[in-house]
Amino acid sequence: MFGFKHENDLVKLLPEVRGKYKCDVPMSKHTWFGVGGPAEVMYFPEDDEDLSVFMKTRPYNLPLCVIGGGSNLLVRDGGIPGVVIKLDSKYYRRCQVDGTIITCGAGMRNSDLRKILLDNALGGLEFLCSIPGHLGGSIKTNAGCYGKETKDVLIKVTVVDEEGSIFDVPAKDLMLGYRCSHFPDDWIITSLTLQAEPQDPAKTNKILNEHKEKRMASQPHNQRTAGSTFKNPEGLRAWELIKKSGCADLVVNGAKVSEKHCNFLINTGNATAHDIETLGETIVKRVKEETSITLEWEVKRIGVSK
Ligand SMILES: Cc1cc2nc3c(=O)[nH]c(=O)nc-3n(C[C@H](O)[C@H](O)[C@H](O)COP(=O)(O)OP(=O)(O)OC[C@H]3O[C@@H](n4cnc5c(N)ncnc54)[C@H](O)[C@@H]3O)c2cc1C
Repeated sequence: MFGFKHENDLVKLLPEVRGKYKCDVPMSKHTWFGVGGPAEVMYFPEDDEDLSVFMKTRPYNLPLCVIGGGSNLLVRDGGIPGVVIKLDSKYYRRCQVDGTIITCGAGMRNSDLRKILLDNALGGLEFLCSIPGHLGGSIKTNAGCYGKETKDVLIKVTVVDEEGSIFDVPAKDLMLGYRCSHFPDDWIITSLTLQAEPQDPAKTNKILNEHKEKRMASQPHNQRTAGSTFKNPEGLRAWELIKKSGCADLVVNGAKVSEKHCNFLINTGNATAHDIETLGETIVKRVKEETSITLEWEVKRIGVSK
């Protein structure tokens, strides 16, 4: 019916859509850590109408989750039961500029904003260009760096909800906080509007390069990681607590603490998700013992253990 090379039982129960389904997709291919078992089915909607039909007619109680660029995710080795939605069609990578207002699909990579800023003599969003991942994921996590967060530049989003309704939500109603949001987990952000400001491209380019240099100097690059593992507790820095607690050179099989930034965990090549999670939980335990502070994971852990 769907013309698959490979089918599983779940996909036979799913509604007919214009987008694509893929069965038993290794999540290691969709995450920056490069680990994780298979998604039972991945669904790549064509556009909002297609996604809406899927949400309205999907089987009752079907487990669902949405991913972006997978740069803030640790998917467990047993994979993800149900359907993983990824906004990856051309529709979700579109972008339109109207003066200083930029409207994009939520599947657009943050780094693609760079060219848009330069081509349109705009600035103010340089911080976002340096953060890995896609725009939808960056709203959910309220990603930020160098003194700015996504919420500072977000005007509104379009959402498809669990019942398939499509509607706009102003940024303030998403309740974005430090690396978190308080809107329902079953809302899928499908597009968004950002506020930029007029700026000489030479200045924008200079800021972009400064951010890149800062990252190269302080964070691991070209390595399998998901960025900062733990949130900074109020008034403190997670990396300082990790270092103080003697965790800066911890290793669990193929997973290790980055030598460059000890709040980053690295898959050195053959780590499992279990190795990475065990390393993280060991850090949480030791930091608690040494400082009485409980670190909170910034990386989202999803899926089931093997
Ligand atoms: C090297 C490195 C450096 C990093 N530096 C920073 C940094 O400086 N600042 C920072 O804040 N983060 C940083 N991160 C973490 C990460 O890049 C950000 O959190 C990023 O915004 C996540 O986007 P993503 O598309 O990869 O989301 P994913 O990792 O795919 O998903 C993250 C969360 O968003 C949800 N989600 C994804 N798409 C949608 C959608 N369309 N609608 C609703 N929910 C959605 C997912 O369900 C999940 O809960 C870094 C990561 C790496 C690997």
